Amino acid sequence: MTPPPPRDPIHLPTSPHASAPSRSTRYCSSCPKLCRYACPVADSTQNERFTPWGKQTEWERVQTGRAPLDPERARTFYACADCRGSRTACHHEIEVAKDLFQARETAVRFGVIDPAPDALQRFLKTGNIWGRSRPLSPSPHPEPSPAWTLFPGCEFDCEPGGEWLASWKRVAGQLDIGWNRLSDESISCGGYPLLALGYGDAFRSHQQRIRQALSGCERLLVACPACRPIVQDLAAPDCQVRSPFELLQPRLPSSICGQEQTTITYHDPCHLGRGAGIYDSPRELIRSLFGETSLIELYEHGEESRCCGGGGALPATFPRTAHHLLQVRKDQVRDTGASILATACPTCRRRFSHGSSGLPALDLVELVDRALNSS
Ligand code: SF4
Ligand code: SF4
Repeated sequence: MTPPPPRDPIHLPTSPHASAPSRSTRYCSSCPKLCRYACPVADSTQNERFTPWGKQTEWERVQTGRAPLDPERARTFYACADCRGSRTACHHEIEVAKDLFQARETAVRFGVIDPAPDALQRFLKTGNIWGRSRPLSPSPHPEPSPAWTLFPGCEFDCEPGGEWLASWKRVAGQLDIGWNRLSDESISCGGYPLLALGYGDAFRSHQQRIRQALSGCERLLVACPACRPIVQDLAAPDCQVRSPFELLQPRLPSSICGQEQTTITYHDPCHLGRGAGIYDSPRELIRSLFGETSLIELYEHGEESRCCGGGGALPATFPRTAHHLLQVRKDQVRDTGASILATACPTCRRRFSHGSSGLPALDLVELVDRALNSS
């Protein structure tokens, strides 16, 4: 048999968006979608373009000049909640959102898309996407020294009723936790919303401000798990970084356990669970407050926990999909039959508080406040 003639080499069109695709982007775009089942956005939209494979393939085609970077393709990059569900299912542990955030920034930089111009303006004006000023200036509990510095994140810092901050202030006082605020109190957001929206320049200039404000900080409490890795990267390498709830359990009086008989289910926030690997300590805290049998696990929990749709700027860019993800998770919460939903992320807590889950949604700090102060 005569061998076929050699093919002409493929000449890629030159493109201003051309760059070398990362190894992870190349892996995904050659993959038979092994993680498809674990992607809540693919599951909700039933659209192959929105699978991890589909999104990475679009990005790889743009980077190699095989496809133009047009608004429709740029929108594909936003169909991701940054939940890391696909990473759990992936043999290579690929973080798809990392590549997509780079794709988003490229699309914004070239003026192909401007996903949330109003939110950007609000951030530039007030330092948070809500455009809110802080309602409450809590006076710090003064000692012992060295105090922890609280970085509450914009959701807790700017919530209109200041409920979380009031709980924190009460609990920290009762459990003798010395704390203060950043020297620049106008900074409360780590900038995750800017990063997720693709506003890279604004994100980096916000990072500069945070880095300056963190100078000399040795012990930091970051209440927002999405902003926690960003803030940690900007702090000194030997700075201790914790979530506020992590300080509470060792200080609880043993007499508190089981005083209130109730049942709790716990929603693992994506950035605290799959992001930081923190699964056990929230559960230990719940059991030490309400007893060994108080915790009822959700159908999908721990590393398999399902995203509530709040991350990756999904509510701003794909609101119907984000809403659907929340409804699916709320159904799982309802199916547990628990009386309280606990979580450890301001975004999750806000999303579960709205609408018809039927359960009060409390952050772990508020749960401790309830156990210490409800009688
Ligand atoms: S994340 Fe892993 S399993 Fe999913 S498409 Fe990429 S390579 Fe395949
Ligand atoms: S991070 Fe979550 S939403 Fe994004 S591709 Fe992976 S599983 Fe899908």
